[in-house]
Amino acid sequence: MIHKFYKKGKRVDRDWMGIKFDFVGNVRFEECSKEAYIKQMDDLLASHGLLEKFVYNTEIWNVLKGDDGLFAINVGDDVVKAKNVIVSVGRMGKPNKPGYKFPKAIRPRLNFNLSKVEDGERVMIVGGGDTAGEYAYGLVELEDMQNCTVTLNYRKAVINRMNPTNTEMTMKYIDNGKLANKMGVDVESVEIAEGDLVQVNFTDGSNAIYDRIVFALGGTSPKDFLVNSKIETGKWDEPLMDEKTLETNISGLYTIGDVVTDQGSIALAFNHASFVMNDIVAKAK
Ligand SMILES: Cc1cc2nc3c(=O)[nH]c(=O)nc-3n(C[C@H](O)[C@H](O)[C@H](O)COP(=O)(O)OP(=O)(O)OC[C@H]3O[C@@H](n4cnc5c(N)ncnc54)[C@H](O)[C@@H]3O)c2cc1C
Repeated sequence: MIHKFYKKGKRVDRDWMGIKFDFVGNVRFEECSKEAYIKQMDDLLASHGLLEKFVYNTEIWNVLKGDDGLFAINVGDDVVKAKNVIVSVGRMGKPNKPGYKFPKAIRPRLNFNLSKVEDGERVMIVGGGDTAGEYAYGLVELEDMQNCTVTLNYRKAVINRMNPTNTEMTMKYIDNGKLANKMGVDVESVEIAEGDLVQVNFTDGSNAIYDRIVFALGGTSPKDFLVNSKIETGKWDEPLMDEKTLETNISGLYTIGDVVTDQGSIALAFNHASFVMNDIVAKAK
């Protein structure tokens, strides 16, 4: 998530989406830039001999318990066996999309992070949470994107889901005109404009043309993964689990982090991990 969705130099906050967090376990982090955060975590993992144990670029389809009482997980060509498994697959495998249809020709211009933005483009960011704010003012500030024009579209007229820093930064650029304000109005539809650009039609009857739209609307529960792992899910496809231990209906199988909540944060995920580890240790005694 951090490698792919955080913009260059992004500040990694402890309090996120307007919620204040304290760490309950041993693992914590100092607020710093994305790059410094990744280094902090890599150093921590390396100092415990764990960094080289990561298996990257490998998708897990499910986690199932065998007759021997152990979980068997296919990791590439290998099968890893485990007594306990913590599922922390997040939600950004499937970012939330808006309800309206995207004509095929302009789909490459509809994105979920800033990685495709080029200098000089007219970019509209859609959303009202911290991610939308950081994308919007972050793009205004990026030195190599100074020829972009950036618009923030949020269906509500007032920002109320960002942390104080992001609210202040976003409002600063809206007030000084560097960030165009399209708040308090929704997008009704998008259509192809000349040159395969995106024409956005707003619910107030106005429209505008953009080179790129970036949706910062969070993500959805990885329902298939959960169902394939026989984890019971609730009304919103969220995993059902014991709220104190985060153990699912399957003994020894836990879910933590964003997969459990749609307003997740790093500190919350760390705290979840601590609850789980305490439970695993207690049961091992
Ligand atoms: C732009 C942005 C900025 C943010 N900034 C902050 C911030 O400043 N502070 C903060 O506290 N929070 C922030 N958040 C939220 C924070 O990043 C998440 O709450 C946190 O990363 C959740 O961690 P996680 O481990 O649950 O999930 P993730 O970080 O999403 O990690 C899940 C991992 O599992 C992998 N995965 C998924 N499915 C599979 C599969 N089937 N097989 C194998 N691997 C799989 C994914 O590729 C991913 O690497 C931000 C989020 C965004 C989008």
